Amino acid sequence: MRRPLIAANWKMTKTIEETEEFINEFLPMVKDITDVDILIAPPFTALASASKLLKSSNVILAAQNVYLEENGAYTGEISPRMLLSAGCTSVIIGHSERREYFSESDEIVNKKIKLARANGLDVILCIGESLEQREANKTFDILGGQLEGSLKDLPLDGITVAYEPIWAIGTGKTATAEQANETHVFIREWLKKNKEGADAVRIQYGGSVKPDNVVSLMSQPEIDGALVGGASLKADSFAKLVVGAK
Ligand code: PEP
Repeated sequence: MRRPLIAANWKMTKTIEETEEFINEFLPMVKDITDVDILIAPPFTALASASKLLKSSNVILAAQNVYLEENGAYTGEISPRMLLSAGCTSVIIGHSERREYFSESDEIVNKKIKLARANGLDVILCIGESLEQREANKTFDILGGQLEGSLKDLPLDGITVAYEPIWAIGTGKTATAEQANETHVFIREWLKKNKEGADAVRIQYGGSVKPDNVVSLMSQPEIDGALVGGASLKADSFAKLVVGAK
């Protein structure tokens, strides 16, 4: 049995004060939830203060990105050790926005995952196809390539895969529950064929997940959780997603 994982990716929203306000409102709403893993990924600047508020709570703290070197002259970058010292136990790597706007290739994603795992951080690896690729029937080729490149020479422990069709992110267009499940089946089969321990890996769906579609998505056998942008920004909406995942 895989425990559901509901994760909030706040992207470039929320100051330290806004993060604290969210957490103070959100924690009482989910304090009794024991059968769903809950994760939030605020911006870097808010991690340390979020960590203080989340101490001894049931909410995991993650970063949205990390660099691929341990330390040194990389102006503006953040290392795994810095994330650990800010209180993170987890990090999102390879989000489609990073792949698109910051030219992150599978090779870069692979290096980042290796370093994050070597430092003991859990990883949410994001993969997903564009609308063009889906319409050209290339979805499985694209996903297979992303898995191959991103997971090269890596065991699966500590890794969650987030399947996020790019055409569904922030657009209000959700993949149907069946469409998402069919793709998750492909990902599971790919993992089983290529890696050890694939049955234990959680595969989250991401792309316009909302309180009104989370239950139907989560009812699919291969959907083990959600990575959520827009609907994670308000405490009550994100709490509804967590409850809907039970
Ligand atoms: C995301 O950014 O990972 C995401 C899924 O965003 P949204 O929920 O807003 O589509």
